[in-house]
Amino acid sequence: MDRKKFLKVKRIVVKLGTNILRNEDGDVALSRIYSYIESISKLVKKGKEVVLVTSGAVGLGKKKLGLRNTNGIAVKQACAAIGQGNLMSLYEEGFNTYGVVTGQILVTPDDFSQRKKYLSLRKIINKLIEMGAVPIINQNDTVTVIEDLDKDAEPVQMCFTDNDKLSALVSSAIDTDLLLILSDVNGLYESNPKENKSAKIIKELNGVSKEVMKMGTDASEGGRGGMKTKLEAARIVTRGGGKVLIANGKIPYIIDKLFEYEDFGTTFTPNEDLPEKKLWIGYSTNIIGHVIVNDGAKKAILEKESSLLPIGVVRVENDFKKGEVVSIRDEEGVEFARGIVNYNADDCKRIIGNHSKEILNLLGFKNYDAIITRDYITIL
Ligand code: GLU
Repeated sequence: MDRKKFLKVKRIVVKLGTNILRNEDGDVALSRIYSYIESISKLVKKGKEVVLVTSGAVGLGKKKLGLRNTNGIAVKQACAAIGQGNLMSLYEEGFNTYGVVTGQILVTPDDFSQRKKYLSLRKIINKLIEMGAVPIINQNDTVTVIEDLDKDAEPVQMCFTDNDKLSALVSSAIDTDLLLILSDVNGLYESNPKENKSAKIIKELNGVSKEVMKMGTDASEGGRGGMKTKLEAARIVTRGGGKVLIANGKIPYIIDKLFEYEDFGTTFTPNEDLPEKKLWIGYSTNIIGHVIVNDGAKKAILEKESSLLPIGVVRVENDFKKGEVVSIRDEEGVEFARGIVNYNADDCKRIIGNHSKEILNLLGFKNYDAIITRDYITIL
């Protein structure tokens, strides 16, 4: 891979994980953070557009409070409230030294899931970039509602719960050229380096196949992501036409070195160029409703990119409104696509298993022939 060509990029999202923002003893890794700030400022001065997605709020808050663990959601939320201010003041002061303006954006899954909020979020990130500022983004952990506090609520699949996925959603929202994920791993290994000491780093991949996804491991201590969530993030970005680089943020001045074309980490080149709306349908919404389809409908969607007609639907699960994104699953419960529904859950229940020409008879009105129209289906 020609690194020079790979790094010919204008817009970059840099994701910094908790474990590289603090030292082994949990203290802030000040010199490292400053080195990131210095390198990013250099990129900005060279005309690059940089957005920072940063973790570390919970970790820094925990340290400040002298806590040994963060058991319980409320404790984590309190730590985030304390740590986020700490984190932001470091960035603000550091970037200020280099004359770079920053703007903080704290987001929750709802800000992506609701299309209107999503479009407004895109606008504000783009506006900050246009003004020459570096947007600094983190999850608003303090106010994020964790649905399992409410036992009666229907199970929600959140569009993100960790910052790896958040960085991918940000990247696809603003059409980023490169997502640079820095954490305490060297990249993607051929096999688990903890079990196989001679495991080698995979230098480059085109997209992230389902087989590669299986190579992902779970989270390390501290952060919420692991290689698994990094690969999920890489899959989203490369499906949207963007590049991804996963490298070890503990290597001194790693950002400078990468942009001097040194050969660290794993690179991922794009393998698709899904339009923004299709990416949003596939990855950026919180999912409640499920539509279970028969094999014929599954085949038609996967092989012919067909619309989903009522005749192909076996049942629907959970409540949903017209216009919401639902999960499309086969009879084994495996999710293979997502799409925007033309009918709410009750109306769907009355028309499924029937021919589309019966819709008017069954409901007394008809919006569309299809329960989900092909242009609003994203295959996962
Ligand atoms: N938002 C969390 C924090 O600032 C980090 C989430 C993650 O590690 O992915 O601590």
